[in-house]
Amino acid sequence: MSAPVRSTCPYCGVGCGVTARTDENGGVKIAGDVQHPANFGRLCVKGASLGETLGLEERLLFPEVNGERAAWEAALDHAAQKLQDIIREFGPKAVAFYASGQLLTEDYYVANKLMKGFIGAANIDTNSRLCMASAVVGYKRAFGADFVPCSYEDLDQTDLVVLVGSNAAWTHPVLYQRLAEAKRQRPEMKVVVIDPRRTPTCDIADLHLALRPGSDAGLFVGLLHYLTRHGPPGQTFDGEAEALALAAGWPLEKCADFCRLDAEAIGTFWQWFADSPRAMTLYTMGINQSSSGSDKCSAIINVHLASGKLGRAGCGPFSLTGQPNAMGGREVGGLANQLACHLNFEPADIARLGRFWGSERIAETPGLMAVELFDAIGRGEIKAVWIMGTNPVVSLPDASGVERALAKCPLVIVSDVVDKTDTGRYAHVRFPALAWGEKNGTVTNSERRISRQRAFLPPPGEARADWWILSQIARRLGYEKMFAWQHPQDIFCEHAALSGYENNGSRAFDISGLAALTRQQYDELEPVRWPVAAAHHGPVKSWRKSGRFQMAGVDPRLPAALTDRNYPLLLNTGRIRDQWHTMTRTGYVPGLMQHTGMPYLEINPLDAQRYGITDAGLVRIASPLGGMVARAQLSEHQQPGSVFSPMHWSQQFARRGQINSLVAKVCDADSGQPESKQTAVRLQRW
Ligand code: SF4
Repeated sequence: MSAPVRSTCPYCGVGCGVTARTDENGGVKIAGDVQHPANFGRLCVKGASLGETLGLEERLLFPEVNGERAAWEAALDHAAQKLQDIIREFGPKAVAFYASGQLLTEDYYVANKLMKGFIGAANIDTNSRLCMASAVVGYKRAFGADFVPCSYEDLDQTDLVVLVGSNAAWTHPVLYQRLAEAKRQRPEMKVVVIDPRRTPTCDIADLHLALRPGSDAGLFVGLLHYLTRHGPPGQTFDGEAEALALAAGWPLEKCADFCRLDAEAIGTFWQWFADSPRAMTLYTMGINQSSSGSDKCSAIINVHLASGKLGRAGCGPFSLTGQPNAMGGREVGGLANQLACHLNFEPADIARLGRFWGSERIAETPGLMAVELFDAIGRGEIKAVWIMGTNPVVSLPDASGVERALAKCPLVIVSDVVDKTDTGRYAHVRFPALAWGEKNGTVTNSERRISRQRAFLPPPGEARADWWILSQIARRLGYEKMFAWQHPQDIFCEHAALSGYENNGSRAFDISGLAALTRQQYDELEPVRWPVAAAHHGPVKSWRKSGRFQMAGVDPRLPAALTDRNYPLLLNTGRIRDQWHTMTRTGYVPGLMQHTGMPYLEINPLDAQRYGITDAGLVRIASPLGGMVARAQLSEHQQPGSVFSPMHWSQQFARRGQINSLVAKVCDADSGQPESKQTAVRLQRW
């Protein structure tokens, strides 16, 4: 066995440290990294199975042009020439990149620099848009910066944990184990779960509020009103008057009616929150994936502001990110509506970025967000798209519409590690990328901790790092000097330097203290939470330039999806314990497929009876956009009137359709995040 190489799990935003040891037969032994502060050696079943995902059977190993194997030089020349032609004829906005929270920070930085800094448009968005874009809006409204004010350590010190829209037991398992352990050690710590379904997360709950789907904001706006009447007067905030005036319209009885909950149960939750000296609210897709997701995030943050449960140990509104590097993508400007290093589309920031990158072509206006970006491809306005490390034909809402858009796009470039993906079928050019275990760089987890992903396997076939592929295209577009890096450390140091450039402590994202790392220091970098400001910058002064936090007024709204006679049930989609994304990695591990082997639809027995559906029987689910077939799973844990189905299965793994082809592309107006949690559907026994 080789010496252990320390790396980071590539599956979720917990960001667990792992160690990998290789044997002489090519086997890899994975274990939890006992030194990593995100997990202290713990791993969930997905992380523990990583060694079984490293085979080359399903890999894309050589570049391709129009379905034929090509030499790297030829494939790069072809792609660059096509991009150049489209930019010349139609302008930079005719080009788009669609990236992924699977990319390393260094890869993401290069993609963002090329698109926003040199091609000169901001049409680079990412699958993280589907995951936590609403959380970003919530933080920016409140703190003026995309700053997550919590750490995992806070869970060990809090008095109350509220999990809302999160089945952490399945989606962030190691964090949930830590929470369960904290509950074992301190049974007096209360846990409230707010979720329409009874999920495994409820196993440690003192109180489960099975509210009406999508009504979460009512609970928190009502709590804000409760706090003003029952809590001690605290700090005042900008926007407070409007927020409190709106909250005053949400007394207990109205909240109970809106959320379809017992008033006494709501009262218990509110009292616990008000009386607990320290409280944390953990939230994820159940909040973010909503047509009013940004407001839901603001409603959560407001109660922490109003009660002073913020900025202290054991306190805070904590958005759990879904992907291993969703946070890193936010840092480098991977979202279409922000610039690198948390700079904004403001004249001073655009000029600052132009000086740092030596470019006069910095994008001046936000680009298209994921759903609108694929709509623009469908309308023919975007003529070239480069999709990196993600499978939008399965994961975006109205997935069939995405397929139709790609089918008529003049240039589709796909960089991926997997050979046969649903999206790859539409590619004109395919670049083989390095996979986990082969690539080298950094990721940032939910608590702002930057950790290294390290290579312990040689590059297979002709696969290359994403940053290298992007840089090669940039050089062919004429930007040789600005993309001349030799190693991911060069890129990381540039990114770190930009974070401190003309910063002087006024921007929260500052890792300039890491800008001068040598190659060896980068290789040995220990997990570290930002900010890490350079000594001469002094400490970060505030999360907010003005020094004042802001309350956003929230008037709770129900989901945009309306049930009617034709579509009488609300469909909720989500993740399951042993699968990841569109299964392009976990779907090949027999042990992980044993947990749940095919798509299913969880349905309350009362609804099942109404539609003549039996347990384990097949059922067809249909929305106005499409349909699919799944196996019925009858469960009292599902509320009558609503059903649940996992989002993972694609046509590659299940022939009878995919759930996202049913989901409407209704988005939050501020965050652009789709409402993947509520779609009106009907059922039919199959
Ligand atoms: Fe990987 Fe997330 Fe499991 Fe940790 S909790 S081992 S990061 S999938």
